[in-house]
Formats: sequence, C-alpha cells, structure tokens
Amino acid sequence: MQIDTVLVKVASRCNINCSYCYVYNMGDDGWRDMPTLISRDTASALARALGQLSTDQAKPFATVLHGGEPLMLGERRLEFILKSLRSVLPQSHVLCMQTNGMLLTNNILDLCASYGMSISISLDGPKKINDRFRIDKKGEGTHDKVISGIKKLRDHKASEFLYSGLLSVIDPTSDPIENYNYFKSLEAPSVDFLYRDGNHSNLPFGKNSIDSTEYANWLCRLLDAYLKDKSPPKIRFLDDIIKLRLGGRGIKEGLGQSDYGIVIIETDGSIAKNDTLKSTFDGADKFEHRWSIHKDRLLDVLRTDEFKVYHELQRATSKTCLDCEFFKICGGGMPLHRWKDTTGYDNPSVYCVDQKELIKYIEFYLKKERLIN
Ligand code: SF4
Repeated sequence: MQIDTVLVKVASRCNINCSYCYVYNMGDDGWRDMPTLISRDTASALARALGQLSTDQAKPFATVLHGGEPLMLGERRLEFILKSLRSVLPQSHVLCMQTNGMLLTNNILDLCASYGMSISISLDGPKKINDRFRIDKKGEGTHDKVISGIKKLRDHKASEFLYSGLLSVIDPTSDPIENYNYFKSLEAPSVDFLYRDGNHSNLPFGKNSIDSTEYANWLCRLLDAYLKDKSPPKIRFLDDIIKLRLGGRGIKEGLGQSDYGIVIIETDGSIAKNDTLKSTFDGADKFEHRWSIHKDRLLDVLRTDEFKVYHELQRATSKTCLDCEFFKICGGGMPLHRWKDTTGYDNPSVYCVDQKELIKYIEFYLKKERLIN
C-alpha cells in the first residue's frame, strides 16, 4: 500500500458556511476539538513526516492544503508551511491548495508561485447557482467574492501554473449547459464535478428516489456539450469513465477498480481517514488508534491492520456490484455514497442508477465513433 495523496487540514474553520458542507453541516462536530489553524510546531512535524514518507516510498505522492478554508492561515503562516515543505520535498513534488479563493491576494499568489503550489477554486456555477448553497455566515451568496479571487489568479503572471482549475458540486436542478459555458468563460483549465454527499439513509439533494436519474440526466447533457466542444476544459469525471471504458485507468477515487492511498492530517497533527466519510456518521473519519505525525511515522501507520481495513473500504463488497456488468468502470462509487445505517458500506452506490445511465450514454458515443463494438 502506498500513499497517493496527503490532504492537510491547515485550518479547521471556514470563512463561509456552505449549506451542504460535510465538515460543518452534516452532523459531525469533530472540527470543534481541533486547533483553528495548524501551529508552526505541527507544520514542522508535517514537513518531517512528509520528507520521511518521500524517502520511505518510491511512488511520488501529492500534498493538498485543505480546510476549512486554508487561506485563513494568512500570509506569514502560509509562507512558513510552504518553506518547511519545500525544504524537504523537491520542486517536482505536486503541491496544491483547494480554496474558495475569497481571501486570495497578490502577495499570496506570489508566495504560491515561488513555492510551486497550484490552486483549485471551489465554485458551483454562475451566481444564481453558486449562491444557492455556497453562502457566507450571514446567509449571503459568495459568488462575487470568489470571482474577484479568480480574477486575481487569472491576472497573475504565473497564472498558467497557478490556476489548476475549478471544483464544482453538481446541482441537478441547474442547467448543465449554462454551467459549462460559464466555466469556459472563466478559462478554467479543468473542472472537477462532484456528486453531492448523500447515502441510502439520507438521499442526496435533488435525487427523488434511489431509482431516479436526475444526476445522470444532468451529466449526459454535460457530456453532449463537452464532446461537441473543440477546445474543452478537462473534465476528470467524464474523462475517467471514457478511459476506463476503453480499457485504461482513471486518476481519482470513486471510479474504476484502482486503489488510492489517501491520508488526512488534521490541524493538531492527528492522522485521520478520508474526511468525506464524515457525511455518513459522526466520527466515521476517525481511526480508533489516535496516531499523530508528532509521534508516529506515516509508513508505520500504513502498515497497520486498522489502516488496511480503511484502505480496503474503497473496494466495493456488495454482491450487486461484484456481479454488475459496469463494475470495472464504476467500481461501486465512493464509500460515502454506499453507506446505509443498517448495512454499513456493503451496498451499491446511492448513484448506482445514475452511473449505469451515464456509462451507457458514454458507450453510445464510443460506439458511434467506432471506438468500441
Ligand atoms: S454501483 Fe451500481 S453501477 Fe456501480 S458497480 Fe455497483 S451495481 Fe454497478
């Protein structure tokens, strides 16, 4: 088992309050026990731990600064972390930040450029779509401030490196074509679309029943626009399904059958599971054993039985999935989407019917192009 991504919670709080957020608004209050920001002491321990991991495993991994909102760190603390990380990790090591972009300044962009950290911005679409759920603590929409951050990012002299793309949570009641055209107008090099959090006991927003296909309908229309476009942004989710159907590999968890090694470091240095699991039940992202980068070597943690059980959670176990004709492509979806209060993770994805419809629609295009029979 090797690590692909280390996701570091550098801030446990956020400057906004998206109503769908799995960290703050889906019943898990673990963030209350964490320091608001990563301390210098923990940042130094982080650098030591990642430096050690980069020599312990041959496979390169990526480091993602995450939150809460990572830019709540402020300039000086961000510089300390970046300097500490780059003192042990080569410039070729992928370092990126997932942010709402509202606190971006030109000084911060200069820092990110000089330490080689790219930036992905969370935005769900044009104002009326984004501001439905991505709101601040007073309930006001955040779109205009995000766009101002994106403008600074696009105007920076190193924007080609810095602007890695947009992350967008799907609103199946919105118009996918309007979203697509809007993201194109922002010259996003890539757009990573995500399913909404939800599971069999708590259906995702916009999904009327387990058998309804609102998300597939939305994604199929998006696919039409994507395939018609001569110069599209990269859409990882669609690209991965196409690649998998043609016999290749995906690049991210939630599709296909590759295993991905993901570990979370909290602001106090504790080591946790993928934090998207928070949306299933309170404490789902916590290991029983309280490991920490202050005292434990990451490689030793990866070798434990408890970590192995967590790692294997990404492999679907449901007989329905194992017997499914689309299993190699779909993989059973993300563990959080498989959850049911009575049967745990041993279920197909709550998006099973959507996945089947989307894969069939992609197959229709691939057949038309004579890429498959
Ligand atoms: S979630 Fe549904 S489509 Fe995906 S592998 Fe399982 S049964 Fe097949």
